[in-house]
Amino acid sequence: MGTALIYDEEMTRYKLLWVDPSCKIEVPERLIVSYEALVKSGLADRCVSVPVREATDADILLVHSEEYLQAVKTTPFMTLEEMQDFCAQYGDVYFHPNIYHCATLAAGAALQLVDSVMTGKVRNGMALVRPPGHHSMHNAASGFCIFNNVAIAAQYAKQKYGVKRVLIVDWDIHHGQGVQYCFEDDPSVLYFSWHRYEHQKFWPKLRESDFDSVGKEKGAGFNINLPWNKVDMQNSDYLSIFHHLLLPIAYEFCPDLVLVCAGFDSAIGDPEGEMCATPDIFAHLTHLLMNLAGGKLCAVLEGGYNLTSLAQSVCQTVQTLLGDPPPRPANLDGPCQSTVESLHCVRSTHRQYWSCLKHAADLPTFDVSTKDLSLDESLNSEESKEEHVWPEPPKRLTPAIRAALLLPDGITCPDGCYRQSVSECLDPLIVTKLKENILTDSEDDSNALSTLSSLIDLVEKMEKDEVCSGLALVHDVSKAMKCVVPHAASALKNRYNNVDLNYTYL
Ligand SMILES: [Zn+2]
Repeated sequence: MGTALIYDEEMTRYKLLWVDPSCKIEVPERLIVSYEALVKSGLADRCVSVPVREATDADILLVHSEEYLQAVKTTPFMTLEEMQDFCAQYGDVYFHPNIYHCATLAAGAALQLVDSVMTGKVRNGMALVRPPGHHSMHNAASGFCIFNNVAIAAQYAKQKYGVKRVLIVDWDIHHGQGVQYCFEDDPSVLYFSWHRYEHQKFWPKLRESDFDSVGKEKGAGFNINLPWNKVDMQNSDYLSIFHHLLLPIAYEFCPDLVLVCAGFDSAIGDPEGEMCATPDIFAHLTHLLMNLAGGKLCAVLEGGYNLTSLAQSVCQTVQTLLGDPPPRPANLDGPCQSTVESLHCVRSTHRQYWSCLKHAADLPTFDVSTKDLSLDESLNSEESKEEHVWPEPPKRLTPAIRAALLLPDGITCPDGCYRQSVSECLDPLIVTKLKENILTDSEDDSNALSTLSSLIDLVEKMEKDEVCSGLALVHDVSKAMKCVVPHAASALKNRYNNVDLNYTYL
């Protein structure tokens, strides 16, 4: 059904016009390098290109106040000094004469993506947008964000398509407090955010970003905050949070639509995040979310300030949305102690709301959120930051055949699958081996020989990345295993555990 890609060069046409160290990292090149990487890798060509549109006033008012919208609308007509004064009332955000226009396009792009996915034009997609959205609030800009693109998209999906349950996964390294405030009393929107927190020392330094902010009233249990209380988190830390926290809850919630606040400042090399997860981890995070909501997933760009890791991470995400298998994860050493502590706190706090967590252990007796207030401030100083170097993610192959089926005569191959033909010319070497090791004399019939030989063919195609995965219907599963497993083990050497074959006894 395809993957939508939404991008418009217009959103590169605003930038910081004065000196502000806290805003200098939010540059137009973020969008340019991301899009160029998608074009250069051939991924953009494989996507369905969907045009942006301007969000209407009514769209923006789904989340923001009339007063705030009218104020933002006046910014294109302000002098530089007036604009600086206007910015001063908010935190870490800048305005530009063209930013109102770009902000309506960014929100409109998220809505176009929701429309494309909800009408079935595509299965999933990504919107590359600036300005980002997840910090902006009902009545205020914040953290480079003007309008809350993803929050508007969630409200829009509920209103226009009657979507009952929306899951918002915010893997940006900052807490999307704007999204939390918007939905904290709304049980139809489950908001999950992990964020650098360091016991409330990291921006936006809010008490309500901690694990015990679970939502309010009817929305209690539908706001999940996972604080990272130290930097340098690795792929193992990210995966463990998905597997032990987000995914069990997400399955229980059973969303109709998944929206991702896709910020890549959580990737290695980012000056804001200072984490060590490599760009290929986003292939896995995306892949794990694609199993929810019938695959209806809309990723909307948020942060990401290291241009190299940003572009690589965007490519990993889009390639996975397109259906290519994720690369094999490397160096998974298990979560660190700080991650286990955060995980423990969130699971304990949420066990009263989610049956999948009902066996979670009690909260630790110490006060986790404040216990590290004596943290050495010098740890965060400029001098202590080390430059990270990481290899470019290896090129991911795209098998021409997604699913191959080896079926006996008379069974129809389902649409979208490839029928693996039954071997007619048998390789004499394989026949000898099969006769020697697998088939007894009494079973030496040509049917069994050709089926097992075809199975070996299928495994060889997988070895050459011509086929992604396969299903075989065989008469004797134990013989099929005896035949294929040693072959795969010797042919693929240490890759045999990568073979994804299902055997079904017929
Ligand atoms: Zn961020």
